[in-house]
Amino acid sequence: MKKIKLIYNSVAGQSKFKYFLDTIIEKFMQNGFEVSLFRAGKKTNLYDYLKNVDSDTYGIIVAGGDGTLNRVVNVMMRNNIKVPLGVIPAGTSNDFAKHIKMPYNFSECIDKIILGNIQEVDVGLANDKYFINVCSAGLFTNASQKTDIGLKNAIGKLSYFFTAVYQLFKFKPFEVKIETENDIIIEKVSLFLIFNGSSAGGIDKLTDGSNIQDGLLDIIVIKDCKFSEVSILLGKILLGKHFDDKKVIYLREKWLRVTKINGNVDDPDVDGDEGPRFPLEVRCIEKGIKMFL
Ligand SMILES: [Mg+2]
Repeated sequence: MKKIKLIYNSVAGQSKFKYFLDTIIEKFMQNGFEVSLFRAGKKTNLYDYLKNVDSDTYGIIVAGGDGTLNRVVNVMMRNNIKVPLGVIPAGTSNDFAKHIKMPYNFSECIDKIILGNIQEVDVGLANDKYFINVCSAGLFTNASQKTDIGLKNAIGKLSYFFTAVYQLFKFKPFEVKIETENDIIIEKVSLFLIFNGSSAGGIDKLTDGSNIQDGLLDIIVIKDCKFSEVSILLGKILLGKHFDDKKVIYLREKWLRVTKINGNVDDPDVDGDEGPRFPLEVRCIEKGIKMFL
């Protein structure tokens, strides 16, 4: 019998997923899979659960948001666990699942996993932390990390909006040096995003056609903006028309180094979770992990 390791985050996405658990296990079992369950929390030991995967394991399936997915990816990459990874979008923010077009209907999502379109995809590495979707720093980028879990569960994604607006009023730009194979940029910036995927904070079209199989990261740097310029740029971003804006620097690179020169900014964030500190050395691990697409 083929095995599924199902990891779920019981507090993700307004805690809805646990009510579907029985239906989901039933569906896998009807299709000939044996399911083992792991209830993931911040302090649970994922490595202990994943270290004994054997050749009968069809897939490791994560039901949660970007943060839960990030923790599983980190354990798999660090321990060379080569089983295909699947994602059921059950978090507050499901940016990577959205990028790979996993259906929001849990049952359809499982159909897709059972169909078994397994492909190698890229993974980002920022210092010692892997990311599957995005590594970022600056204005808005850590709203998910800074938002209270109670508020997240009460009002979902709207809670990020409140955190972001609060940040807007007290934010100061910071100066960075960005080095790539082809460029050195020194600039006062509001934020930067280094994408493997394409959306962040539920906003699509942030990248100009990024691809998780091209061995490259899509980098968006938003220069220091006046308050009045932020809203105009946000409008363009929502329409996906920001790529040639004079406040935007867009790069596509295999690796980059980001050094903070001046100003205060929180440590970078990876997939909505705590990331490494500056200076950042970021690279794309081409085809680093197998996933159900
Ligand atoms: Mg890419």
